[in-house]
Amino acid sequence: MHKPIVALIAALLASPAFSDTLIDRANGIQVGADGKLQHFTALLVGDDGKVLRVLGAGAARPKATTVIDAGGRTLLPGLIDAHGHVTELGFAALQLDLVGTSSLSDLQQRLRTYASAHPEARWIVGRGWNQELWPDKRFPTAADLDAIVPDRPVVLGRVDGHALVANSAAMKAAGVTPSTAAPAGGRIENGLFVDNAMSLMDKAVPPPTPAETDQALAKAQEILLGYGVTGVGSMSTTMDAWSAMRRAGEAGRLSVRMMVYADELKLLSAEPRPTPWLYGDRLRMVGIKFYADGALGSRGAWLKQPYADKPDTRGLQFHSDAEMLSLADTAASHGFQIATHAIGDAANAQIIGVYEKMSKKYGRDRRWRIEHFQIVDPADIPRIAPAGVIASMQPTHQTSDRLMAEKRLGPNRLAGAYAWQTVLKTGAKLAFGSDFPVESPNPFPGLSAAISRRDMSGQPPGGWLPRERVTFARALNAFTRDAAYAGFAEQKFGSLEPGKWADFIIVDRDPTSVDAQSLGRTEVLETWIGGKRLWAKPASASRPERGK
Ligand SMILES: [Zn+2]
Repeated sequence: MHKPIVALIAALLASPAFSDTLIDRANGIQVGADGKLQHFTALLVGDDGKVLRVLGAGAARPKATTVIDAGGRTLLPGLIDAHGHVTELGFAALQLDLVGTSSLSDLQQRLRTYASAHPEARWIVGRGWNQELWPDKRFPTAADLDAIVPDRPVVLGRVDGHALVANSAAMKAAGVTPSTAAPAGGRIENGLFVDNAMSLMDKAVPPPTPAETDQALAKAQEILLGYGVTGVGSMSTTMDAWSAMRRAGEAGRLSVRMMVYADELKLLSAEPRPTPWLYGDRLRMVGIKFYADGALGSRGAWLKQPYADKPDTRGLQFHSDAEMLSLADTAASHGFQIATHAIGDAANAQIIGVYEKMSKKYGRDRRWRIEHFQIVDPADIPRIAPAGVIASMQPTHQTSDRLMAEKRLGPNRLAGAYAWQTVLKTGAKLAFGSDFPVESPNPFPGLSAAISRRDMSGQPPGGWLPRERVTFARALNAFTRDAAYAGFAEQKFGSLEPGKWADFIIVDRDPTSVDAQSLGRTEVLETWIGGKRLWAKPASASRPERGK
């Protein structure tokens, strides 16, 4: 063989594949395996959409077919929301939106406008009101809705999803009369349905059609991409939502990576085992979500001591210890991960006890999750790390809830409230999310709250229980690496490393050089998943959805 040919072959073997893409001149920031911030300036992406190399400023640049000049803009790994409700986000965006209503009359005005704009709707369904934001803080009643829409059923969910208000037409359609008793774990008062009582109304609302669910899934993905969310823990996923996700996967319409948690045991007949990753690592049924209690706003959170502002109740216990253990054991015996909603300190103590037993039986790396982990007895927090329990928490719940939490608990029971730093100090894993659509899916107000314990208007000035702040590196880690870890996905995404997917975002500021409030206002310019740009901020466009 001639020498020049040998040299040519050697050169071909050494040169990168022809369709590699080099993203160069970026201000790249991510969290390394050591938990520290790592800076880089270029990313080489293979034609399979996975990262080939992460390059620092001084490193020689490999040849690539396509070179993209990031122009010094900041590049972060795609953000992962460990706990959201995907189709609910889409439905909420398509339904009557009551988020941010400032009074009952504001709610009534929005209802009037929506009803006249949608004469075709047989039922008017909305969500997002929060009476805590209203001057008199009174819960809305059926009569309040009858005054606006007397002739069609109206059902309006509270912002936390733990209460709804129905008008008389809706109650009539549901067969609810004044003598109807609330089911266990629920309450009915003047058209207000709390926790388990909501099922009386929910089952009367005509279910969405498959086409409507497809539309909601598409809408949700569009919103998430606009906020730089490239992966999500899809909580309490129903059979209808799972079917829509499968349809979208088959049709190539899944963009955001979904770590799916089924709604209790209802999907076991359809999916008796966790699925493998499907559709290019876009979809996986990984676990089952359970509920140990309700929410704090509607006094459904199960507390060890009575509510400070309603001393005749300790909230709602959903399951006995034996039932909770049996549910978890059933799910685990099918190989599923378990994610259990627990808000109150009694609910958290119960589920920690269950997980301690489970970890003895199944081992620690089952990554038992507690969703919210909001109000925890400080004595119970150190129990989670030894049992391999992950705290899946939502920083914007803290900023939204703090005044309400002070009322519900009084000043002396807040030591273990939204205790992110304490969780980390005890050596447990912390995953962050938003619980959208309860909160905005925008992760940046969450990052801001995480480092400041202040809301987007800077309140309260010194931060609420500021010892529970975490560093930016810890906050970013909880929104990337450990959010992926919390869904058994850390080998696939959550950081930009050779062999993992090139899921990243380009944003309009450097989060390490701005204050917390500016961090919260970060705008996403581009969202890339699997090495493809799937979203770019439209020139002079408004945000994809109102932020919080
Ligand atoms: Zn949730």
